[in-house]
Amino acid sequence: MAYAYDDQNIFAKILRGEVPNDTVLETDHSLAFRDIQPQAPTHVLVIPKGPYVCYDHFAQEASDAELLDYTRAVGEVCRMEGVAEGGFRMIANAGRDGVQEVPHLHVHILAGRNLGRMLQPA
Ligand code: 5GP
Repeated sequence: MAYAYDDQNIFAKILRGEVPNDTVLETDHSLAFRDIQPQAPTHVLVIPKGPYVCYDHFAQEASDAELLDYTRAVGEVCRMEGVAEGGFRMIANAGRDGVQEVPHLHVHILAGRNLGRMLQPA
C-alpha cells in the first residue's frame, strides 16, 4: 500500500514549531511529548520526525538510523518517566479500524495506573 502524508496534520505542525507541545524527549529523529488529553497519569506520545503516516509506512520507508532512533526513544521515555518497572502499555493506532485520529505515526505510552484489559468488548 502507498501512503500519502498530509503535512497539515497537528503533529506536523508541532514538529515545525507552529503548535506548542510539552516535550519529554527530543532526539535526532524522534520527538516525545505529553498527550493533550491524557488517558492515564503518564500519557506520552512518541513520533518520528519524518513524514510517516503509520507504523507500516515507517517500517517500509524509514532509514535504519530512523528506525533505531525511534525504537530507542520509546524505551528511553519509559525509563525517564519511571514506568519501566511498574509496567506500561504501548498503543499505535493505524487507519480506519484502528481509529487513528492524527495521520502521523505515534506510539502512545500509557502508565501510572492499572490499565485494565487490552480491549473493551465491542
Ligand atoms: P490517535 O487516536 O490518533 O491514536 O491519537 C491521537 C492523540 O493525539 C490523542 O490522544 C489526542 O489527545 C492527541 N492530540 C491531538 N491533538 C493534540 C495536540 O495538539 N497536542 C498534543 N500534545 N496531543 C494531541
